[in-house]
Amino acid sequence: VATKAPSSLERELAAILGPDPLAPVTAAYLGDETEGRGLRGRADALVLPSSADVVARTLAWCYEHDVPVVPRGGGTGFAGGAVPLDGGVVIALERLTRVRRFDPLLWRINVEAGMRTADVRRLAREHGLFFPPDPGAAEQSQIGGNIATNAGGPHAFKYGVTGAWVTGLEAVVPPGELVRVGGSVRKDVAGYDLRGLLVGSEGTLGIVTAAWLRLLPAPEAFLPVAAFHRDVQAGCEAIERVLGSGLTPAALEFLDGATLEAAGPAFPGEVPAGAGFLVIAEADGSREEAARLRAELSEVLGEGALGLVSPTGAGEVEALWRWRDGVSIAVTARRGRKVSEDIVVPLDRLAEAIEETLAIGRRHGLPSCSWGHAGDGNLHATFEVSADDDEELARAELAALELFALAIRLDGSISGEHGVGWVKRGQLARQWEPAALALHAEIKRAFDPKGLLNPGKKVAAL
Ligand SMILES: Cc1cc2nc3c(=O)[nH]c(=O)nc-3n(C[C@H](O)[C@H](O)[C@H](O)COP(=O)(O)OP(=O)(O)OC[C@H]3O[C@@H](n4cnc5c(N)ncnc54)[C@H](O)[C@@H]3O)c2cc1C
Repeated sequence: VATKAPSSLERELAAILGPDPLAPVTAAYLGDETEGRGLRGRADALVLPSSADVVARTLAWCYEHDVPVVPRGGGTGFAGGAVPLDGGVVIALERLTRVRRFDPLLWRINVEAGMRTADVRRLAREHGLFFPPDPGAAEQSQIGGNIATNAGGPHAFKYGVTGAWVTGLEAVVPPGELVRVGGSVRKDVAGYDLRGLLVGSEGTLGIVTAAWLRLLPAPEAFLPVAAFHRDVQAGCEAIERVLGSGLTPAALEFLDGATLEAAGPAFPGEVPAGAGFLVIAEADGSREEAARLRAELSEVLGEGALGLVSPTGAGEVEALWRWRDGVSIAVTARRGRKVSEDIVVPLDRLAEAIEETLAIGRRHGLPSCSWGHAGDGNLHATFEVSADDDEELARAELAALELFALAIRLDGSISGEHGVGWVKRGQLARQWEPAALALHAEIKRAFDPKGLLNPGKKVAAL
């Protein structure tokens, strides 16, 4: 196999970093989960740092030479945030996987940014602890990517999104400085909340190299119940009844009828005939607490339901969540591609958002569906696109613009958890007032005056 000769940029970087962090630019580093939407970048160099110091030296060199930098985690993002659309240097954090410190008895851990989400969760679990954020691609995504997108997931309903579990960050900011904000302390109100600014900044303000995370003693039991309803109205009424009854499930998820058609055949249990909506609620706590809460949730969700499935034992519970994690893939499999967004609306507008998604799809001649984190009003509103029809893809992108308008009309937001990245660039202007938009631009300028960090993403205009 012929290997490409290193470019002059790669040679210059190798001269200051040594050859080890430089790797050939392969296709795996040029796309993310938006690949089906035609997003693929090109990069002039790929750096795989093994230390925060190498991240800092890479950014310093790029800043001095006006070269754009794109930070990359596990590449599971749905917003094109890690895609290097205008060339430059991709800094992929996958070698930064050390646990710098773990104090299980103090419920805290300090990990490097490239550690995979599932590994953080497993390590915590092995010590009787719980790291609640559980975005669906946890085996591939990295904790740094989760922090950069402020990722959610099913259990964000009770426990909050990733940022709620980050007490401190180490990050490299332009022009190549290593900074620490926050730390292992659980409270810190000295200064502005720079930690909060970096969380969810999608690689546009700094490159996260390590994080202090808060943990909890692990609940003893997780007991979900899946309730099948006839339609959107009945399902959403059941969801609202759960909140109205004062019960606190750890997760409160939904799938609409079209999503059930795609994913239902693999459901680990019986799907009743006529089911057009699924609600999954999970109870957690001590064995007794979880059992009692699940019984109460079953009663509330069971009113008018076509059927309930209540997994018992760790294997069955895991099978249900594995199935839930596979929903996105099952929907993609139906037509080959999809345009899937993550709008969020107030809970009492969820039914309207689900129905409107179907109406937008119909107007654009596209099969559509939605599923997501019902308790948070966060829906993955999706237009299914045939694998070989680019005209359909263009229609789906137009349909997505209507979704953003819908989210705003319903007092919601264009993104509940995936971020803005490249695919929603320019859309912030629909949501934020001019003064708030101007503050965004000022913050970007304060961190990154040359605009070289992940250009074209998050706060960029169309
Ligand atoms: C099947 C599936 C299910 C999913 N389910 C969920 C879900 O339930 N909830 C949810 O929120 N998301 C979900 N996602 C989306 C995705 O997993 C999350 O957005 C995740 O947080 C991205 O992490 P990553 O490491 O893959 O980041 P990447 O995709 O590599 O990057 C995402 C963004 O973060 C930036 N970035 C990455 N690492 C760093 C760093 N160290 N420092 C600074 N910036 C960085 C990138 O530049 C980019 O802008 C799902 C994705 C898939 C494929």
